[in-house]
Amino acid sequence: MASDRSLQDWRSAAKGLDFRSQAFIDGRYVDAASGATFDSVNPANGRVLTAVAATDAEDVDRAVAAARSAFDSGRWARMSPRDRKTVMLRFAEKVEQHADELALLETLDMGKPIADSTSIDIPETARCLAWYGEAIDKIYDEVAPTGADALGLITREPVGVVACIVPWNFPLLMAAWKLGPALASGNSVVLKPSEKSPLTAVRIAELAAESGIPDGVFNVLPGLGTTAGKALALHMDVDCLAFTGSTAVGKLILQYSGQSNMKRVWLECGGKSPNIVLADCPDLTRAAEAAASGIFFNQGEVCSAASRLLVDTSIKEAFLEKLMAAGQRMQPGDPLDPASPMGAIVDQVQFDNVMAYIETGRKEGATVRMGGERVLAETGGWFVAPTVFDDVRNDMVIAQQEIFGPVLSTIAFRDADEALRLANAVDYGLAAAVWTRDVRVAHRIARGLRAGTVWINCYEAGDMTVPFGGFKESGNGRDKSLHAFDKYVELKTTWIDLS
Ligand code: NAD
Repeated sequence: MASDRSLQDWRSAAKGLDFRSQAFIDGRYVDAASGATFDSVNPANGRVLTAVAATDAEDVDRAVAAARSAFDSGRWARMSPRDRKTVMLRFAEKVEQHADELALLETLDMGKPIADSTSIDIPETARCLAWYGEAIDKIYDEVAPTGADALGLITREPVGVVACIVPWNFPLLMAAWKLGPALASGNSVVLKPSEKSPLTAVRIAELAAESGIPDGVFNVLPGLGTTAGKALALHMDVDCLAFTGSTAVGKLILQYSGQSNMKRVWLECGGKSPNIVLADCPDLTRAAEAAASGIFFNQGEVCSAASRLLVDTSIKEAFLEKLMAAGQRMQPGDPLDPASPMGAIVDQVQFDNVMAYIETGRKEGATVRMGGERVLAETGGWFVAPTVFDDVRNDMVIAQQEIFGPVLSTIAFRDADEALRLANAVDYGLAAAVWTRDVRVAHRIARGLRAGTVWINCYEAGDMTVPFGGFKESGNGRDKSLHAFDKYVELKTTWIDLS
């Protein structure tokens, strides 16, 4: 589904775009009740794309009421799984049919390279919706192993009204990881995209409606986290909240649940993932290229970014040379240029955060081996050069905190035990990788790593069939795979006396 359009094609397509910018509640587009808006800004040039409805508590009430009424009506929740599958597949098809438009919106709104939006974000979104649609009529409930005088049924039922609050780094894909299983299993959903990247979420609302998802089953509320997001998380009639975002906001969401109705909360939060390269790494060039794309892909704005390179002292210099050569080939450019391997940082706030971390790294005594500065400032956009720090100690701020930018921290180790100890010595536990020829060492380290995903001799690999999520402060629960359904269903026991 990758597009073959040129930079000129994308620029003229961008000029002709008609942005959807309202909230979508109960099957139609509406302004925020207050009439308030916020600006969606193109991070590649700092210019306003459009004003978007800034929903707040009043809109949240309306959307949750619509979702509840749709759920209670049973028009989606009690539809047969086979029919829900048909609608989900149609929804996935609509996303595919509008792939170029959605990819363009994603790139304009958050600054990622168009090559990535067209080859990853949008096709993966369609694949995810289809995958859960395909799955839903193939999952059986359970009969308990009772004696002959009873029948114990264990059935899965949709939890009810599901709120999804998602971040800006993969705006549509992170939403799809929740929408897929939540909708396929019969829930009603209220989605709040990030205020930094709301445009694709509001656009797919009508694609969902055109696919046959009934009114009220899928609502989209663009708005700020501190108003719309907080009101959703505190709402007494939201049964389940699936969140992807920072660990700091994840902790707030847990509190909001406790302060309100104890809604089920699922958190996919930050990471500081170790990429461990042992001295017997089978292919240094491949590993170095994977390490570079592991930290520079999507401007480093990836929860599972390979942000800590743990490398054996004996090969560190040779490895860094190769890694920096690969990093040089990932310099940022115009996100609309299909040749740009890296785009712009999402906004001024995030850009300032990244630059502040680079400054902190310097002050802490780490050495900048590459990058470390703003580039393409003349565009008015927020571009940061791929940056490599060497001589990092694991207790430094740049080794412990999630930077969420194209900034790598290199930490040397002497043996596999030290590597494992350093790898686990952070608050996060989202992902990790090990590069070695020795299958026993690979398994031993993989077992010891406190991380939701461990890659052996690869990085950022996988597909819908495997779960994704974190240990420790990277969160709980899992997106992707059949396990994701567990978040959006209640288990019910029905015990029937046959005596
Ligand atoms: P963020 O926590 O600032 O915002 C995430 C969402 O929460 C946004 O929609 C925001 O509007 C909303 N929000 C903010 N404050 C809120 C509040 N008080 N109440 C309710 N909602 C609120 O995160 P971000 O900057 O958008 O995204 C980056 C973070 O997301 C990184 O930490 C990254 O690691 C994480 N992430 C994790 C995964 C994963 O699968 N584990 C995937 C992608 C991103």
